[in-house]
Amino acid sequence: PMVQSPPDPSKKTLLILGTGWGAASILKGIDTSLYNVVVVSPRNYFLFTPLLPSCTVGTIEHRSIMEPIRYITRHKQCAVKFHEANCTDIDPVNKTVTVEDQSEIKGKVNKSTLKYDYLVVAVGAENNTFGIKGVTEHACFLKEIWDARKIRTRLMDCIESAAFPGQPEEEVKRLLHMVVVGGGPTGVEYAGELHDFLVEDLVDWYPDLADKVQLSLVEGQSSVLPMFSRKLIDYTESTFKSNQINILTGSAVKEVHEKHIVIETSDKQRKEIPFGLLVWATGNTQRSVVRDLMGKLPEAQTSRRGLLVDDHLRVQGTNGMWALGDATFTKYAPLAQVASQQGTYLAKLLNRLGKLEDTTTTAATTTPDELIEKLRPFRYSYQGSLAYIGADRAIADIPIFGQTVASSGVATYLFWKSAYVNLLFNTRNQSMVTTDWVKKTLFGRDISRE
Ligand code: FAD
Ligand code: NAD
Repeated sequence: PMVQSPPDPSKKTLLILGTGWGAASILKGIDTSLYNVVVVSPRNYFLFTPLLPSCTVGTIEHRSIMEPIRYITRHKQCAVKFHEANCTDIDPVNKTVTVEDQSEIKGKVNKSTLKYDYLVVAVGAENNTFGIKGVTEHACFLKEIWDARKIRTRLMDCIESAAFPGQPEEEVKRLLHMVVVGGGPTGVEYAGELHDFLVEDLVDWYPDLADKVQLSLVEGQSSVLPMFSRKLIDYTESTFKSNQINILTGSAVKEVHEKHIVIETSDKQRKEIPFGLLVWATGNTQRSVVRDLMGKLPEAQTSRRGLLVDDHLRVQGTNGMWALGDATFTKYAPLAQVASQQGTYLAKLLNRLGKLEDTTTTAATTTPDELIEKLRPFRYSYQGSLAYIGADRAIADIPIFGQTVASSGVATYLFWKSAYVNLLFNTRNQSMVTTDWVKKTLFGRDISRE
C-alpha cells in the first residue's frame, strides 16, 4: 500500500512541472522511495493528444482520452504530492518555483513558493499565433481538451445558425465555410475528422445544408505535411481533393477578423476568405515561464525556440534542473514519442542517481553532476509517423531495418487504430475509446450542441 507520509527530510525533493507526455512517463518510471516527489500542473490529468482531433466532431468523447494523474500516482510505492497550479516563475539560483492557482475557483491562498533539489521542466509549449492580431479572439486552437470541446460547440452553432429561418444565402455560405490554418498533422487530422462528420452524419441530419458545407485548409508552404515522405504528401493531397477539401498551399494568413481572414499567396496577391469556424493549427511557441527562465540564463540559453539541454537532458546553465519534450529545443521534433522516451530515460537516470547518492561511498565528495556524467546519455528511437486523413484512410512512415516504408489507405487506418489503442495507458481508457468507435458505427455521432 502507498505510504501517506509527510515529506521525508532525509530525501531530496524532486519537483516535476506538467502532467503531459514527458511528465506522465517520468511518473510511471520513477522510484518514489528515493525522493519526495511533487507534481505541479494546471491540469490534473494526462491527455492522449493523438486522438484529440477525433474529439472535435464526437468520433471519440473527450473523457475517453483523459487519465487523472492520481490514477498514475496511486500505484507508486510512496505518496506523490500533486498541486493543481501553474508554475509562473522558476528561480534557478535559490532553487524555488512560484506556483499559482489560476483556475476559476480559488481558495484564500492561491500563490505559493516551493523549494526543490531537483526540478524537471515538462510544461510543453503553447500555440503560436505569430503575433497575428485576432487569432486568440476569433479562432479555435486544437491543443487541449477544452479546445476540442469549443470546436465541437462552435461547429454545431454554425450549422444551426445557417439553418435559421430566412438566413440569406451569402450568410449561409459563410457560416458553413470551415477553415483550418496550418497544414501540419494537427490541421490535416482535423480536416479529415470534419470531412467524416460531414459525410457520415450531417448529410442525414441536415440534408438541405450538407452540400453547402465547404472545408478549406490554408498552408503557407508549398505542400502539407512536410515531415512525411513525398509519396504520402501526394496521397494526402489527392485524397483531400477527392473528398472535396480545398487545399490552399502557398497561402499565408496575414490577418484574422471576426468573420474573415486575409491570406497572401506566393505571388503576393491578397484575398479575403469568409469563415464560420476557424481552426488555428500553426505549431508551437514557448510558454512564458520557459521564456522567462531562458531570459535569466542569457549566456547558456541562446536559442529562442526552447530550452537547450545536454545529452543527459540537463538544462544548460543550471544545476539540478532537467527539461524535456516541447519545452526544449533539440534535434528532435516536438512529438509525444520524443517526450515520452525522454521521460522514461529521465526516470531511469534519476533512479540511478538516487541510488548512487544513497550508497556510493564517494557520494560525500562526488557531485550529482559527476555521477550523472557516468550514466548513459539519452538516445531517441524513431518509431515512425502516423496520421489519420479522413474517409477511413491513414498514412504512415514506418522504419523497418533502417529503411522508412511509406504506407497509406484503409489497412494503414486499421493499423493506426490498433496502434493508438495499444498506446493508450490503461485498459479503462482503451475500453472507453473502443466503445466510442463502436457507438459511432452503430448510432452515428451526437449532433447536440453543448
Ligand atoms: P505536453 O504533453 O503538452 O504537457 C505539458 C504539461 O504541462 C501539461 O500537463 C500542461 O497542463 C502543463 N503545463 C502547462 N503550463 C504549465 C505551467 N506553467 N506550470 C506547470 N505545468 C504546466 N505527437 C506524436 O508523436 N504523435 C501524434 O500522433 C501526435 N498527435 C498530436 C495531436 C495533437 C492535436 C497535438 C496538439 C499534438 C500531437 N502530438 C503528437 C504532439 C505531442 O502531443 C506533443 O509533442 C507532446 O504532448 C509533448 O509532450 P510534453 O510533455 O512536452 O508536453
Ligand atoms: P506544425 O508546426 O507541424 O505545422 C504548422 C503548419 O502551419 C506549418 O506547415 C506552417 O507552414 C503552417 N503555417 C504557419 N503559419 C501559417 C500562416 N500564417 N498561414 C498559413 N500556414 C501557416 O504544427 P502542428 O500540426 O500543430 O503540429 C505540432 C507538433 O505536433 C509537430 O511536431 C507535429 O509533428 C506534432 N503532431 C504530430 C501528429 C502525428 O504524428 N499524427 C499529429 C499532430 C501533431
